[in-house]
Amino acid sequence: MAEKRLSHAYMLLGPEGPGRDEAALRLAAALLCREPDAPCGRCRDCRKALAGVHPDVIQVEREKGEKETRRDLVVGQIRAMTADAALMPNEAERKVYIISPADRMNAQAQNALLKALEDPPGHACFILCAAAADGLLPTVRSRCVRAETAGGEKLPRPEGTDQLARAYLETAAGGDAAEVALYCLSRGKLSREQTEAFAEAVKDALWRIAQGREPDPGLGRDGIFRLDRLMDKTEDYLRHNVSPKQIFGMLAAETLR
Ligand SMILES: [Zn+2]
Repeated sequence: MAEKRLSHAYMLLGPEGPGRDEAALRLAAALLCREPDAPCGRCRDCRKALAGVHPDVIQVEREKGEKETRRDLVVGQIRAMTADAALMPNEAERKVYIISPADRMNAQAQNALLKALEDPPGHACFILCAAAADGLLPTVRSRCVRAETAGGEKLPRPEGTDQLARAYLETAAGGDAAEVALYCLSRGKLSREQTEAFAEAVKDALWRIAQGREPDPGLGRDGIFRLDRLMDKTEDYLRHNVSPKQIFGMLAAETLR
């Protein structure tokens, strides 16, 4: 996003799924990042946005009931979002609302959104994720800039826990903050059990590397020690019922520290 004149509303089109979710977070990072090469992937705003834990990136999704997720995004949610949008951002210069799936807003909800799009607070941006543009009212559509999703559906391939751990260590050794953030972001959907197994597998691998039974991907003694402590923290978080999404957000922020 070289040009800094930003629109207030974007339409992100593509099939529902992790590919589109990731694209939405990348766009949110681009909107919040203050670096000239936004999204730089290195700054605090980028890292938090990419990991899905930025307090100024608000996801508006269908409400999950006890048994099932509601079919539609309802007008009450859009009104609550509009009320929140009137408040100043917490950390960033903007607040980004990711509405997904925006094509599951009923007409009443879309009309409520239209009001917000007609007269948005200066700091608010909206990203509308939809399968196709015709799922949105023409009046809503005409106020959005179209953002492309690269590739659409991109499901994470099933991986064994050991490969998952190895990939994490290699990414950490690579030292690229954006890669680490993306790795962690795409693992935030693991179950608690998988997250537990992940932490164990990372600790096992670190132990083997420390003993010279496995090649060091470039972590060095300090890296091994630091990541081992980070896995202790992960296990501690799990014991305190912190969600995998938040845990991987923590790992995104702290892996390279
Ligand atoms: Zn940045």
